[in-house]
Amino acid sequence: MDRVYNFSAGPSCLPEEVLKECAAEMLNYNGTGQSVMEMSHRSAAYKPIITDAEAKVRKLMNVPDNYKILFLQGGGSTQFAMIPLNLGLKFKKAAYIRTGVWAKKAAAEAKKFITVDEIASSEDKGFSYIPRVEKVTGDYDYVYICFNNTIMGTHYEYIPDTGDIPLVADISSCILSEPLDVTKFGLLYAGAQKNLGPAGVTVVIIRDDLITETPLPGTPTMLTYKTHVDGESMYNTPPCYAIYVVGKVLGWIEKNGGAEGMGKRNHEKADYLYNYLDNSSFYHATAQKGSRSLMNVPFLTKYTGEEADAINKKFVKEAAAAGLANLGGHRLVGGMRASIYNAMTLEGVKKLVEFMEKFAKEN
Ligand SMILES: *Cc1c(COP(=O)(O)O)cnc(C)c1O
Repeated sequence: MDRVYNFSAGPSCLPEEVLKECAAEMLNYNGTGQSVMEMSHRSAAYKPIITDAEAKVRKLMNVPDNYKILFLQGGGSTQFAMIPLNLGLKFKKAAYIRTGVWAKKAAAEAKKFITVDEIASSEDKGFSYIPRVEKVTGDYDYVYICFNNTIMGTHYEYIPDTGDIPLVADISSCILSEPLDVTKFGLLYAGAQKNLGPAGVTVVIIRDDLITETPLPGTPTMLTYKTHVDGESMYNTPPCYAIYVVGKVLGWIEKNGGAEGMGKRNHEKADYLYNYLDNSSFYHATAQKGSRSLMNVPFLTKYTGEEADAINKKFVKEAAAAGLANLGGHRLVGGMRASIYNAMTLEGVKKLVEFMEKFAKEN
């Protein structure tokens, strides 16, 4: 079988040239006679791989010197705990905005350690929009948002003003999808498997003043940011191979115009798809205008109830047979979802729309 157009929400498609480079270097990386998988993370051959990946994140995201960049394990989900454990120190209280599954999970985890105030929510309309939050004030150690809601397909088109309160954002499914002003945030993090590489590594960008030696009592060593800052992401064995692939993807982003280049490419793709959905009498996008993700596009057909279940299944099956893979919606929301991360091409999106037109005519 030829390679498919892969619309998976994560792990998701990677640039083909990156995969080819990894394949070419698999048995003998850079004349070492070893695979990157086989070498010591303390070796002279590996060291430049991680320092280069870090330098590329710093350059591509314009990360100022007063922020550290970490490569951690445990996925985005471990950050749900690390954030309150390390940041919830003075007031033992944080503000969370409820915009979907990942924001809810983060808040539920934080409640194990600190007080959580849910200051806004879009649950009233099935999380189909991003609530507008004016200036946040109060005795909060931080304000937490999920910047791109992978499952609901919504995205912040503004950055909430939190004044002196550090703003924390989960950017797992939108990192480097377009330019982002890092200085507006105290902490940013992203699991790599959506837009940056394979699963197994999480990029954390943390401002120096939020790195503490004394997190909440009982915090494990591995869940303390300071541990990984001091160890330069090598306190213990890092996810070496995943970091290597992330470095390659970052190189690919650099070659393709950096964050600006990605933004242009992603707007083109998303506009093409939303424009089709908005003008269709058969399909509709579920996320409201003004809150729509560039990366994850959930959509439904005109059918409802049991008829909808059958038509959705048929869509996903026939699309897969046509080489358009992984278009099923998240198990919690159903319908369809096209994840069109950085590595997805405009050509892939056009092929999808072509298929959607044909399917609409036949059904
Ligand atoms: C996938 C995802 C997560 C969870 O990431 P894991 O690495 O599976 O723990 C968290 N937040 C968002 C926005 C995601 O898309």
